[in-house]
Amino acid sequence: MKITAVTTVPLRIPVAPPPYSTAGAGTKLEWGRLGRLSPKRPTPLLEYLLVQIDTDTGLRGVGEATVDIGFFGQTLEEAQAAVDDYLGPQLIGHDPLDREDLLWRIDYRGNTVAKAGIDLALHDLVGLALGTTVSVLLGGRARTRVPVAVEIAGGPAAAMAEACRTWLAQGVRAFKAKIGGDPRQDADRLRAIRDAIGPQASLRADANQGYDPKEAIQLCRLAERAEVGLELLEQPVAAWDLAGLAFVRRAVDTPIEADESCYSTHDALQLIRHEAVDVLNVKLGKAGGLLRAKQIAALAAAAGRRCVLGTSYGCGPELAAKAHLFAATPAVTEAVEFTELGLHQNVLQPPHQAGLALPLEDGCLPVPSGPGLGVQLDAQLVERYRLTPPP
Ligand SMILES: [Mg+2]
Repeated sequence: MKITAVTTVPLRIPVAPPPYSTAGAGTKLEWGRLGRLSPKRPTPLLEYLLVQIDTDTGLRGVGEATVDIGFFGQTLEEAQAAVDDYLGPQLIGHDPLDREDLLWRIDYRGNTVAKAGIDLALHDLVGLALGTTVSVLLGGRARTRVPVAVEIAGGPAAAMAEACRTWLAQGVRAFKAKIGGDPRQDADRLRAIRDAIGPQASLRADANQGYDPKEAIQLCRLAERAEVGLELLEQPVAAWDLAGLAFVRRAVDTPIEADESCYSTHDALQLIRHEAVDVLNVKLGKAGGLLRAKQIAALAAAAGRRCVLGTSYGCGPELAAKAHLFAATPAVTEAVEFTELGLHQNVLQPPHQAGLALPLEDGCLPVPSGPGLGVQLDAQLVERYRLTPPP
C-alpha cells in the first residue's frame, strides 16, 4: 500500500459569544490578553483543518488539526500551508503502515497541530487497512466509555456554580474551573462550585498561567483550608517557569498539573526531571498526535505521574481519537475534558453525529468500535462549514 495524496479541507464553525463578561472573570490571561477576534475574524468561531490521506488501494484515512492562535500558536493558514506544502509531500509514495518512520519524517520543530492532523489520519488509515480499531493499535480497549469533564468559564462565583449545576443535570461529574485572577476571589469561586456539585464530583482548577508562584501557593492554601477538595491545580504559573511550578508543588498539598508547559515528550521529561508536576495535561494538538501522546503517557507512568486528556477542541476525528487514546492508556485519569461538546455540533455521520455529542449517556461518551477511528465525515456538514475559498 502506498500513499498517493495528502489533502486538506479548512472548516470554520461559528460559536455563540461566551456567556460571561471577561471583566472580573477568574482568568487574567486567556481570553483577555490573547483575543481571537480580528478584522478577518470579527465574530466568535472555531476553525479546524481536516487532513485526508489517500492510498493506491482506495483506502482513505481522515484526521483533523485543531488550530488556535491563542493556545496552540498556529493559525488555520499556517497549518494548511504546513500540511499541503511540507509535511504531506514527505509521505507520498510511502507505506502508511510504517507510521512511526513517517511521523519521524515530518517531525519539524513546532507545527504541533499540523502534525497531529497527519498523525490522526495515519492512525485511521492503518486501522482501516488492518481491520482494527485505533484503540487496539494503541494498546487495547480496556475501557469502552469515556467519563466527560467540562471546563467552566471564569466569572462571578454564582454564575460558575450555576453552570456546573446545568452540566450536573446532564450527568457530568467532573469540572474544571477557570481561575487565575485574585487568589481570595478564586478560592471563593471554588468553594461556591463545590457547594453546588456536592462532595463526590471531581473539581479541577485551571489558572492558565495567571498567578505568580506565591499567589498560586496562596490560592492552594486558601482552597485547602476551605476544604474545596481540588483534584488538581492546572498551570498556576507561566509556561516557561518550571522552577516556579516546582516551588509551588513543594509548598502545597494540592496536586499540580502542567498544561501550557507540556507540549512535547521533551517538555514532559523536563517537567519530571524538575519534580515540577504531579499530573501532565496531554492534548493531541500539543503533543503532535496519538503517537507522541502515548509516549508522554509512558513517561508519566514511568515517573509515577498521572495524565489528564485535555480539550484541544475537535469537530469529529479528534473526538474519536481522544476516546481511543483514553481506552488504551491506563495512566490517563478517569474524566476526559470535552468542552467543545457544548459549543458546536460535530461533522460526523450517524450514529456518531449524535453519539459523540450531547446529550451524554450517564455522563459518558462511547469509544467508537468500528475500524480505524471508527467515525466517518458527513459530507453535507463538511460542506456547510467548509471555508471557501481556502484562506
Ligand atoms: Mg489549561
